[in-house]
Amino acid sequence: MKSIKIKNSSKEIEIGKIVCVGRNYAEHAKELGNEVPEKPVIFLKPSSAVIFSGDKILYPSFSNEMHHETELVLLIGKKIKNGSEAESEEAIEGYGVGLDMTLRDIQNELKKKGHPWTIAKCFDMSAVLSEFILKKDYKLTLDEEISLFINGEIRQKEKLNMMLFPPVKIVQYISSLMTLEEGDLIFTGTPKGVSKVEKGDKLHAKISGMVELNCTVG
Ligand code: MG
Repeated sequence: MKSIKIKNSSKEIEIGKIVCVGRNYAEHAKELGNEVPEKPVIFLKPSSAVIFSGDKILYPSFSNEMHHETELVLLIGKKIKNGSEAESEEAIEGYGVGLDMTLRDIQNELKKKGHPWTIAKCFDMSAVLSEFILKKDYKLTLDEEISLFINGEIRQKEKLNMMLFPPVKIVQYISSLMTLEEGDLIFTGTPKGVSKVEKGDKLHAKISGMVELNCTVG
């Protein structure tokens, strides 16, 4: 099993399931030709897909178009099912930044056929994680900026308050669909600016004043 590391702490937390939100920024939904959803679009990633800052993302042999999606990631600290808004807020224990690596060529084919996105989203190394910062050490305002640089050039940059569904609403909604448990992670969706990565690219993702990660594509 894999564990996330906590900033300024020796504490490690074993990763449970990873729930992801799609199309949570209006401009990103539009750039991929999708409608802005009325409810969060939900999918899963396996914990076997996780790698960490400093690791290398290997291009899967079955795709020629791997995209970066830079996202705020929530750490769930306690079991929650059908949570109220207050309970949902309380269930969030910390925050990280992550890359939801996506095989866009495969995903486009799957979408056309009406098939699940599993092959495009669940491959090894498709979930890159930073260290996490605990909520008790950092108060999220949503005024923070999330950004991604490739080889020093900025590709994605957006305020977290541009999310269609904020963290508490996402947790509340997911907890109405499935039980969330300690160690579960939630990828909250990517802002506009997704693009293809190439072998040799150096990726740097950050949320201002909070967390950051670095990795290379191989
Ligand atoms: Mg995503």
